Amino acid sequence: MPPRFRLLSVLVLTSSVLACATRGATPTSEPSTNPPMTTPSSLDSSAEQYVKLVLAVGQHDGNYVDAYYGPEAWAKEAEAAKLPLPEIAARAAALVKAVEDVPVPDDALVAMRRRFLLTQLSALAARVRMLSGERLKFDEESQALYDARDSQHTEAEFEALRAGLDELVPGQGPLTERLERFRQGFVIPKDKLDPVFRAAIEEARRRTLKYVTLPAHETFTLEYVTGKPWGGYNWFKGNATSLIQVNTDLPIFILRAIDLAAHEGYPGHHVYNALLEQHLVRERGWVEFQVYPLFSPMSLIAEGSANYGIDVAFPDAEAYLRDVLFPLAGLDPKRAADYVRMESLSEKLSYAGNEAARRYLDGTMSREAARDWLVRYALISPERAAQRMAFIDTYRSYVINYNLGRDLVKQYVERQAGPEATPARRWEVFRELLSSPRLPSDLR
Ligand SMILES: [Zn+2]
Repeated sequence: MPPRFRLLSVLVLTSSVLACATRGATPTSEPSTNPPMTTPSSLDSSAEQYVKLVLAVGQHDGNYVDAYYGPEAWAKEAEAAKLPLPEIAARAAALVKAVEDVPVPDDALVAMRRRFLLTQLSALAARVRMLSGERLKFDEESQALYDARDSQHTEAEFEALRAGLDELVPGQGPLTERLERFRQGFVIPKDKLDPVFRAAIEEARRRTLKYVTLPAHETFTLEYVTGKPWGGYNWFKGNATSLIQVNTDLPIFILRAIDLAAHEGYPGHHVYNALLEQHLVRERGWVEFQVYPLFSPMSLIAEGSANYGIDVAFPDAEAYLRDVLFPLAGLDPKRAADYVRMESLSEKLSYAGNEAARRYLDGTMSREAARDWLVRYALISPERAAQRMAFIDTYRSYVINYNLGRDLVKQYVERQAGPEATPARRWEVFRELLSSPRLPSDLR
């Protein structure tokens, strides 16, 4: 999902790629000295068991394994064994114990790896409990799965933001309808979608490659799809290759081209996955990064960095829209400033989506009331609110990863880079984050 108003679209990350397992990168083999019970090598055997457990959970939950490009034999093994949930839970508990028994390594990155495995395993155990029928409250669930929780939000907070938009789009009728009419002037015509998206992705790529070194063969495929609960998706295939899909069920506003290019592609999901593969899987042989469990702390880092990445890549979004994408889409460049102002005000409403999800999933608000809440406080059309509810039904507290994730990543990078940071320094901190096993709780 996108920054600016990026709550409203619904972008998830990478995907399951069992079919592509053979194309994927095999880790650069185990280190030649591989004593089973010493640090850090003993983390290696736990890491392999962790991957196998993630694949086992995937047999019970079709959305769980978002990407996998490890050995095909492991995928087949998981499919054949189809371990029952109680058995997975027992193995996860034993594995936690094994990792805990490994002394905290001196090397900071290896220590982070150990903590990563423990936190990911804890999230896996929580997902198994959910699949076994346990109901968690929204905040408990997000803490258990994503290592973070969003604070509660009130109507008053969003009413104040509505007032700012009300001034921007004066006139008769409900504000959501006025905004929707205003936005209709910034829809990318269907026949311009592909050239606009390709231009934005190419520009995002060019800007990213100035600061981030990617494998020379990195590449992606772009596809247009319909009938999905999300707005865009990046399916990572391994070997620095992605499939980026754009959902065209609803009209697509011009800012989404930048959002999507940066969020799904550069420096978002495609780059995050490619850097983890390059630095952790290939250079270090850390097999656990060949699998991506969607309902896990990795997703807060992934979605948060993908959304923050839009600002990193396009600090001049308004000028780029006005000078390049508006003309390409046949839109009037003179209207770019008003449009961007509307989008940046709307973006601040994104937390209304978390609140709707919280109340709906906790049972204090009906599905219909939650949809109406989205129309009123997130200021999106009933059609988009319906798409949003379908997303919440499927992904639940995952919604916090977009906006809370973005804010946590932004604060982290700005703190690390310092207040006077040059763009190069900001990119450097950002790139390091994307190449590390850093967890949401490490961002604070
Ligand atoms: Zn995403």
